Amino acid sequence: SAAGTVSAQDVDALVQRHAPLCMRNLNDSLKYDKHLKHDGRLQFGLFIKGMGLSVEEALVFWRKAFSNISDDKFQKEYSYNVRYNYGLEGKRVNYSPYSCSKIITSNPPSTGDNHGCPFRHFSLPNLETRLLRDNISRTDADQILALARDKHYQLACTRHFEVTHPQSTARMDAIEHPNQYYEASKKLDED
Ligand code: SF4
Repeated sequence: SAAGTVSAQDVDALVQRHAPLCMRNLNDSLKYDKHLKHDGRLQFGLFIKGMGLSVEEALVFWRKAFSNISDDKFQKEYSYNVRYNYGLEGKRVNYSPYSCSKIITSNPPSTGDNHGCPFRHFSLPNLETRLLRDNISRTDADQILALARDKHYQLACTRHFEVTHPQSTARMDAIEHPNQYYEASKKLDED
């Protein structure tokens, strides 16, 4: 989506309703911890940029999300990173949101990190728990888990899209990018 089409206050509801599991997981962690580590901020920050959040709204979003810290600390330690994502600091590259293959194959999360791809980086029991907690049926969860177990991570995510969007009649293209998942989900609401 074009920059400036989504405001800070809309992010949570839009992510909960339309984002893939990797980004819902980061959003949940951010709300729970009121913080995300650097790699999670990058993965999620570039994703919400791709949703259509301007840099001004991104700064509002992150300031509000990191509610345990002072304005001073936020300005000193975090606003640079947000502006960096938008190419306003450092190397001044207008960074793009990460693709699935980048998220799946590079920089795996360590303990305490929340970035990465749940279909690749969660243990199978944790993935199972999450799917069932999201009210995905036992049968559907088993199909998704089998794909993840066989290392077909993006197909697991594609199947996840299909079972969580039963109104989708067209055959889903394989998920290659978190923002593709998001846009396809959002479009179903608009149709
Ligand atoms: Fe996110 Fe891609 Fe993994 Fe789906 S396959 S959860 S969109 S990284």
